[in-house]
Amino acid sequence: MAEVVLTGVRKSFGPIEVLKGIDLTIDDGDFAVILGPSGCGKTTLLRSIAGLEGITSGSICIGERVVDDVPAAEREIGMVFQTYALFPHLNVYKNIAFGMRMRGEPKARIAEKVDEAAAKLRLTDYLARLPRELSGGQRQRVAIGRALVREPQVFLFDEPLSNLDAELRVDMRLELANLHQSLAATMIYVTHDQVEAMTLGSKIVILDRGVLQQVGSPLEVYYHPGNKFVAGFVGSPRMRFIPATVVASDRRQIKVHADGISPETIVVDADGSRLAAGDAVEIGLRAEDLRADAPAPGHLLLTGTARQVENMGHSSFWYGTLKGTESELIARLDKHLFIRPGVETQFSVDPANVYLFDDEGRSLER
Ligand code: ATP
Repeated sequence: MAEVVLTGVRKSFGPIEVLKGIDLTIDDGDFAVILGPSGCGKTTLLRSIAGLEGITSGSICIGERVVDDVPAAEREIGMVFQTYALFPHLNVYKNIAFGMRMRGEPKARIAEKVDEAAAKLRLTDYLARLPRELSGGQRQRVAIGRALVREPQVFLFDEPLSNLDAELRVDMRLELANLHQSLAATMIYVTHDQVEAMTLGSKIVILDRGVLQQVGSPLEVYYHPGNKFVAGFVGSPRMRFIPATVVASDRRQIKVHADGISPETIVVDADGSRLAAGDAVEIGLRAEDLRADAPAPGHLLLTGTARQVENMGHSSFWYGTLKGTESELIARLDKHLFIRPGVETQFSVDPANVYLFDDEGRSLER
């Protein structure tokens, strides 16, 4: 298995630059999830690593080897696509065996590898079936089996679960996590699904408009977003932002005022060395940090007016606005609490859970 190192990778399609200088190291054994909005360049990045797309400049290393001039078939990668890309007229056995047969490997060796992959992917009973006789989840397992028997240095997955229904997605997610654990292989996985990224990734790579925004463990990017884009993109429901003004600041503390939040001056432990009084900043709040029970001393208070409440069974999501402002708020409420649209609710927030961003969207975390 191998690490994957990208240095200054750029890719343009005609006049449009889609990857704008990507420097990224994916360690041996990492499960790296590339997360970002539609069109940000995730698939292009994956296809560039696979060699299915030539890069405009920069360099890609897989293992010890620079692969810039190595054709896709010789890069020792196994790729699994969203659409499975199975041969419809070949049964499961032949689909999995296809690559090995093409390489002219001995029959006995092929049988051994296919049986091993089928057992790992719970496909043993389906080897004689055609793809159309399988469920979506089974088809995706065949596609994974095909990658598995190649014994690649790196597995690449392009939104492999997006064609599956919700329940199957959960099952396959758990299976992929198991597979990663049992193979200890380097895996690179493209998705725009928050939950997949948070649960599968040992490392999350966040991309926006062809630029790397942050690379870190799921908890790092969730709790310590480097900028407003990452803060707003990671987590479901998304963080909400409220405009505020700096009252005073130093290296350790930022005092801000925000309409609709009391006290009048909010003190946040953050690095205000770049700020001056009067500067515009934004407060970021996550749904789970708004509490509707009795406020603890020192917590911030804010009143919200409900616009809509979605009951999820285990809890409900409250969507509304901060009183006296146009700022949107979102709160995750206890399942016993049901609030009607139009009703005002007082929320409290521990100031330790307040995120602050400067006017360029950079995190002010200390
Ligand atoms: P999604 O989540 O929607 O699949 P993505 O993040 O994977 O999006 P890419 O498929 O990498 O995004 O596309 C990035 C940008 O490059 C898009 O604007 C897309 O239109 C453009 N693009 C991709 N492939 C080509 C191509 N072959 N020719 C021209 N433009 C392309």
